[in-house]
Amino acid sequence: MARDADGYPVTASPAGVRRSAAATRDLAVLDERISGCRACPRLVRWREEVAMVKRASFRGEDYWGRPVPGLGPADARIAVVGLAPAAHGGNRTGRVFTGDRSGDWIFAALWRAGLANQPTSTHLGDGLELTDVRVCASVRCAPPANAPTPGERDTCSPWLARELELLPRLRVVVVLGGFGWTALWPVLGAAGYAVPRPRPAFGHGVEVPLAGPRRPLTLLGSYHVSQQNTFTGKLTEPMLDAVLARANELAAGGGTTSSSGRGPAGRE
Ligand code: SF4
Repeated sequence: MARDADGYPVTASPAGVRRSAAATRDLAVLDERISGCRACPRLVRWREEVAMVKRASFRGEDYWGRPVPGLGPADARIAVVGLAPAAHGGNRTGRVFTGDRSGDWIFAALWRAGLANQPTSTHLGDGLELTDVRVCASVRCAPPANAPTPGERDTCSPWLARELELLPRLRVVVVLGGFGWTALWPVLGAAGYAVPRPRPAFGHGVEVPLAGPRRPLTLLGSYHVSQQNTFTGKLTEPMLDAVLARANELAAGGGTTSSSGRGPAGRE
């Protein structure tokens, strides 16, 4: 596999993403392969332009300007799946949800839930460690206006599918927002999970148990931690804490749901 100037293996097409993801055997290699991906021309242009122009307040920083891999240990029982990195957040720091207001929310909540060792995530090397949770995104490159196209979502989905497969103890996926909810169904179907038809609608607190190839998995919906939701009070800290408390409960093997699921407490 060809490597770029920084040594990352280059994946240049949707077929390449499918092949490379399927052939990856551990998370560290997956992270490296994601970091070298260039399969979506529009997103590659955007992430690199943002990294070059920069926001004035970060002018002195070197932006990552690449796809952003997931964060968290391979023995995680919980995955948190967001939408995509922010232009001046993950695309700047190189770590998922790190360096923006959405990250302030999710990492503080993970800390309150006992899944992170500190409530803040500001930059690589800040001491953050996650326990029992892997945080990642449906699309790994920062998109213009925070809006990936359906084609970009589908091109990127093999990375997410492989990441979830490489978490052997996974029991719960917390999905932040309707975009990730929609993106996840084909990923789970391809991984051998029994996906209900019609697909359950997204909502905050919606809970969907799935029979799977290795063990059951529960999908938990949560409003996204975007400023649009947190500034308006659509998503509050107690609402997010309740979802993560439920994720912890399910990960520990407690409180399984019936096949009809629970919720919703609201809809996006
Ligand atoms: S969005 Fe995903 S598939 Fe597209 S270039 Fe970025 S990492 Fe590759």
